[in-house]
Amino acid sequence: MQVDAILQSKGTTVHTVRANALVKDAVGALNKYNIGAVVVMDADGEVAGIVSERDVVRLLGRDPAGALQRPVSECMTANVVTCMRDTPIAELMEQMTRFRIRHMPVVEAGELMGIVSIGDVVKRKIEETEQEASALREYIAG
Ligand code: AMP
Repeated sequence: MQVDAILQSKGTTVHTVRANALVKDAVGALNKYNIGAVVVMDADGEVAGIVSERDVVRLLGRDPAGALQRPVSECMTANVVTCMRDTPIAELMEQMTRFRIRHMPVVEAGELMGIVSIGDVVKRKIEETEQEASALREYIAG
């Protein structure tokens, strides 16, 4: 199974902020869309970074009073690990575990095609396991 199977069921919407936005804008998007990470885009429409709720908490720990007014670039991870639509889910899980990340933007030829979270992967894995169990039950009963 590949990343594309997840995008087909969850859609390709990715919530983003511009690189010149403030941390409060990223927090606003995390809150408004009930998500764990936003992708930061540069002026050319390329991925410049990613900000997860964990980054915001770290910054709040360092600068509780001023964090929200800081540029998002001070909070984001600039070296973004991405995948493609044909990336196998097993490889995605391996990378999420290895890099300790829970979000992976899907990027092809510099274009943002979607985003997959660890929650999306777990949901898909549970569905797959349930389908396998049901097929096995039918096989045994039949
Ligand atoms: P997360 O587990 O996704 O909440 O993120 C944990 C840390 O990894 C934060 O510092 C994020 O900025 C960073 N991070 C999340 N996703 C990615 C990614 N795809 N590539 C690089 N860093 C990431």
